[in-house]
Amino acid sequence: MLCTECGANADKGYTTDVTVLGNCLIIVRNVPCYKCIECNKTIYTADVIKRLEEIVEQAKKMMQEISIIDYGKAA
Ligand SMILES: [Zn+2]
Repeated sequence: MLCTECGANADKGYTTDVTVLGNCLIIVRNVPCYKCIECNKTIYTADVIKRLEEIVEQAKKMMQEISIIDYGKAA
């Protein structure tokens, strides 16, 4: 995978994705991603973006101030 910003190599890894929705904070841990070795940009594959959207949708329904979800364990 090449970085979409600078074109350098991006290594496979994991990150924590944080979404802010009004007063709510949705934190998703252990999200598979690629990280640029040059500029540190985090790149998600299309599958991961879709899955993250689903997880955020689920979390929204719970209406908690802070939701912490493990990517691998999300329903
Ligand atoms: Zn880069």
